[in-house]
Amino acid sequence: MSVRHILAQKGRQIEAIGPDTQLAQAILHLASKRIGALLVVDADQRIVGILSERDIVRALVAGSHALEDHVRDHMTEFVVTCSLDTSLAEVMDMMTRGRFRHVPVMADNEVVGIVSIGDVVKHRLAEMESENSAIIAYIAAG
Ligand code: AMP
Repeated sequence: MSVRHILAQKGRQIEAIGPDTQLAQAILHLASKRIGALLVVDADQRIVGILSERDIVRALVAGSHALEDHVRDHMTEFVVTCSLDTSLAEVMDMMTRGRFRHVPVMADNEVVGIVSIGDVVKHRLAEMESENSAIIAYIAAG
């Protein structure tokens, strides 16, 4: 199973903000959408970073006026992405190695979605259950 299957089910909704947005606004965005990360894009919709709830927690610990800071001061600039054909096992590996829980999906140099660790675990479990059922059916048939 690949990332394509996840996006086919969950849709290609992308939540993004600009780098000059204040952290206070980013928090409201995260809370209203019930998500853990926002893509940071420039005026041409190109990815310039990613901001997750962890970045916000760190910013709040670092300074009492952090809510007025700009997203660009706390985002991660080097964003690891995947393609529609990346397998679930590969995405899990990326997340484990990079210690992050969100991966934007690219197609033709454009972002077409974002997958979270929750999406990946859910689909990987379904995939393993289906593999188990196939093995049991095979053994029973023999
Ligand atoms: P997360 O586990 O996704 O909340 O993110 C943990 C840290 O990794 C935060 O500093 C994020 O900005 C950063 N991060 C999240 N996703 C990515 C990604 N795809 N590529 C690089 N860094 C990321």
